[in-house]
Amino acid sequence: GMTPRKNAITEITNRAPKSCKMPEPLTKIWATDVFSLTAMEEALSKNAFKAIKKTVQTGATLDSATADIVAAAMKDWAIGKGVKFFSHIFYPMTNITAEKHDGFIITNSDGGAITEFTGSLLIKGEPDGSSFPNGSLRMTNAARGYTAWDPTSPAYVMHTANGATLMIPSVFMSWTGEALDKKIPLLRSNKAMDKAAQKVLSLMGETEIATLNSSCGAEQEYFLVDEHFANARPDLLLAGRTLFGAPPAKGQQFDDHYFGAIPARVQVFMQDFEDKLYRLGIPAKTHHNEVAPGQFEIAPYYEAANVAADHQQLLMTLMKSTAKEHGFLCLLHEKPFAGVNGSGKHVNWSVGNATQGNLLDPGSTPHSNLNFLLFCGAVIRGVHKYGPLLRAVIASAANDHRLGANEAPPAILSVYLGTQLESVFNDIKEGKLLEKAKGGLMDLGLSQILQFERDPGDRNRTSPFAFTGNRFEFRAVGSSQSVSGPLVAMNTMLADSLNWIADKLEAVMAKGEDQTAAVITVLQELMELHGNVIFGGDGYSSEWHQEAVEKRGLKNIPTSADALPAFKEESIIKLFESTGVFSPAELASRFEVYSEQYILTIEMEAKLVVGMANTRIYPATIEYLDSLSSTATNLSKLNITISHNSIDEIASETDAMMAAVSKLKDALSLADFASTEAHMNHCADVLCPLMLEVRSHADALELMVSDDLWPLPKYQEMLFIK
Ligand code: ADP
Ligand code: MG
Repeated sequence: GMTPRKNAITEITNRAPKSCKMPEPLTKIWATDVFSLTAMEEALSKNAFKAIKKTVQTGATLDSATADIVAAAMKDWAIGKGVKFFSHIFYPMTNITAEKHDGFIITNSDGGAITEFTGSLLIKGEPDGSSFPNGSLRMTNAARGYTAWDPTSPAYVMHTANGATLMIPSVFMSWTGEALDKKIPLLRSNKAMDKAAQKVLSLMGETEIATLNSSCGAEQEYFLVDEHFANARPDLLLAGRTLFGAPPAKGQQFDDHYFGAIPARVQVFMQDFEDKLYRLGIPAKTHHNEVAPGQFEIAPYYEAANVAADHQQLLMTLMKSTAKEHGFLCLLHEKPFAGVNGSGKHVNWSVGNATQGNLLDPGSTPHSNLNFLLFCGAVIRGVHKYGPLLRAVIASAANDHRLGANEAPPAILSVYLGTQLESVFNDIKEGKLLEKAKGGLMDLGLSQILQFERDPGDRNRTSPFAFTGNRFEFRAVGSSQSVSGPLVAMNTMLADSLNWIADKLEAVMAKGEDQTAAVITVLQELMELHGNVIFGGDGYSSEWHQEAVEKRGLKNIPTSADALPAFKEESIIKLFESTGVFSPAELASRFEVYSEQYILTIEMEAKLVVGMANTRIYPATIEYLDSLSSTATNLSKLNITISHNSIDEIASETDAMMAAVSKLKDALSLADFASTEAHMNHCADVLCPLMLEVRSHADALELMVSDDLWPLPKYQEMLFIK
């Protein structure tokens, strides 16, 4: 018979590419499916529009009369687009989104039906949601969860195969008001950051200070694999990554005619995908990533963090569904293929407002340079003090494969500033700038310096956290992760540092020091305490790993099992409680949920390894051994021997593989663990190495067993999409 693998190759070879639609001009499709401020201005009275605009821009509460008016206008707008259902969309603690659809329809006593949508339906939903992970935040007797409209992120229409739905971005909380999602903490962290930044800016003599917000631009990497290959690989379908697969021989490629149609298919996919993004007001641009075959990247322009986070989730959802329409499986996993680069999500982050602009941009006046130094210093302190938190918010079974693997940032959190800015901070530390500062306002010329350094060629690609001219770029984030966790951590650590700076500035100024000298004095102390985290060298080198840990006291945290307990540390609990971002109970629930996800992921993979080895690889090798041995028997009857045959080697690899499978099975059956931490350690220290042991034998077999019999699509086949 034909193996699923051979079948897949035949299918793909004989397929014509999906035809390409003529692209629509951007101006014609831009944000047409979004109930944007522009759409609202058209649909609402002047007063109602003024009220909702204030809510959107400042988060001010909306009165119920206006909410009714907005709801009615939203409904009419949506019905005009063919919508029959509406849904609050929310962001549970897993990295996915959730929605519950409701019809606009209500019936009246005459048996007729009308459409209705009130302010209270818009504002609040009750999805129940008892099956969403809550990390013990809800007892079963209080299983009810509520969704509430977030007016600061625009509603939109989502087109699916069965029609169109009005989607209303929402928060998700327990009936006691505890955050069960990833949006509430993000909104709270913005608020904490704003409050602390206001204090610092007013100490700096700013008189008019608009609300500060954080911004995010996320670069998304992903792989595309033909669905026929994916369907023949249960590991890709269930785990999103290959649990088996020998590395392809260097330079080995399939003949071009096999897959000649594929690059065109990817282009058609991208165009279709971008078209959808534009209609939803997501400002995307795409480019091929050359690093790995079959891997691509898309990077929308940056937006307000809350909107960017919602858009990022939507982008991932659409990427998967659009890929499916084009016959691909879109892999957002951090490491789908061993030995080939994995996928990350660079989170570009800055903070600013309408009056002072981007505070991570040095600006052109000496005064704005001082503001910049303070905010930049605050980030340095944050990464140093809360490095383990930044590691914890990007911790997942999948991202562990990537971090520290010499292709992605190391699992040590350090900050890269660039040569010139680093030397400015070193001068501050050594007291060189304090002397000058005593003479009054000084011009550091930072905007010119950084203009010069903005050249991407000069950037350090090995740093997990890099300053890139007017923002920081958190590069260790995984491709499948929500950007919300990293943004919450960054905003909150910044809030904490700005609070610290405000207290110090106040104290120094009270002693009569002028503003410039006070800033430099505070930054000098900050650098003495936290300057150790700044590193401009090669983050992949073993010297750095040694220096970071032994000389600088930074932590190298390679696995999630080691990283996640940071959520239980006293300093982290205090950080989130003091800033009002997470209560201790909310934080504890994050530890529980993320740990559980880690454990579930690894146990699921281990089960898959056992299953695939038993039911796919073993039968293929046995079949091959059978034919080899009967050939040998027949040959020996003719007095012919092939002395250099592979029978013994294949037999012993098969035996070794099955021995490892049985060890893995035993390890999987352990159930009683003293703590969640112990359970995670079992996954990291026992299950993961055993999975690799099974794999090493299976991969060796893949290189020996007849190609005709091998059941799983091979790396060079799946990856040969360029
Ligand atoms: P690179 O690959 O060189 O890092 P890209 O242009 O691919 O750069 O992506 C950079 C990302 O950073 C984009 O999403 C961009 O919109 C975003 N970005 C630019 N300026 C800022 C800023 N001030 N704050 C946040 N994000 C920004
Ligand atoms: Mg980047």
